[in-house]
Parts: sequence; C-alpha cells; structure tokens
Amino acid sequence: MPAGDVHFDYFNRYIGASRVLAFAFAIAMLPLGIEPSWVATIFIGDLMGYEKLGKYIDPDDDQPDRTASEGRIIRRFKALGIAIVAYKSVYPWGIYMLAFLTGTLNGRLGGHRTFWSHSYVFSTILRMILYFWPVAVIIYLYIEQPFYLWLFAIGLTIGLCKADGLHIFLDKKEKRTQWTSYNQRYQKKK
Ligand SMILES: [Zn+2]
Repeated sequence: MPAGDVHFDYFNRYIGASRVLAFAFAIAMLPLGIEPSWVATIFIGDLMGYEKLGKYIDPDDDQPDRTASEGRIIRRFKALGIAIVAYKSVYPWGIYMLAFLTGTLNGRLGGHRTFWSHSYVFSTILRMILYFWPVAVIIYLYIEQPFYLWLFAIGLTIGLCKADGLHIFLDKKEKRTQWTSYNQRYQKKK
C-alpha cells in the first residue's frame, strides 16, 4: 500500500481537479431543469466532501492501528479528536467482521483492502453510513425541513467518492506494478 503520506500528497495535488469536476457536474445538472439552489447545495457538498471529509476519512481506516488520517484528526481536534478516533475504531472491526462473514479476508489482520473498504463508490457509501448514521438519525427525528441537508449529504458523498477513488486507484496501480516487477525478477532468475 502506498504509505498514508503518499496518499495525502496525491490527495492535495488533485484538489484542483476535484473542483473542476464538481463545477462541471454542477453545470451539467442545470440544463436538466434541476433547481439552481439544489445544484448549488450539491456543489458545495461535493467540494467539502473531497476537501474536508477526504482529509480525515479514507479507505485505510480499515486498519485497527492508527492511520495517517487519524493522526491528522488528533492533531487538528485535540481531545475531541481522540473521541472521534475512538468512535472510528468501530469501523475496522465492522469491516473485519464483514470480510470474515463473507470469506473475503486477506492481508494483515485479515480485513485490510477488501471489497468492503476498497471498492469504488460502494465502500464510500458504506463509510458514510457507518460514520454518520447517528447524524442522519438526528436529522430525521429533529429537523423539520431536512431536504437541503440530504442534498448536502449527497454532495458530500460524491466528493468523498472522488477522494476515495483516487486512493483506491493508487492502491490498485501499486499492486499491479509490484506484481509486474515481481514477475520480471522471477523471469530473470529463470
Ligand atoms: Zn488503501
């Protein structure tokens, strides 16, 4: 796996690309007759999903030891950060359980880089649900007109899909390169 700081470096490099994509997506929605205020809400969510959530949530949260993004959370949010990281620790065990039950265990401690944490779109939606379901319940129970909040949540998910997608792509690319160089070395030996 590329180390956490390599991922973070790529994440930062692609912020501009994420903004361009978010803008293009928003422009593409307008001719479909979607309310401009809806489009704007999704657009803002999209930007924040990549730039804010993507900084602190990533597919490598499936490892029970502290990841690079969790280090960032603690440095940024101090005591609250420790509480957030403690809460997030439910995630790797949940992923481990899913991988165990579906017979897809692999790697260190079994649950790292399985379909459950490293699949495009699906794993991002799963992470959004596992991390934010308490917020969703509060919105559902206590907010009278939650429509724009749901739109915002959709935007956040789209933005985070891009950040996660970049991460997963790099992981897969690295796996391929390692495999190729392994094969080359093996061929030479023969
Ligand atoms: Zn990864």
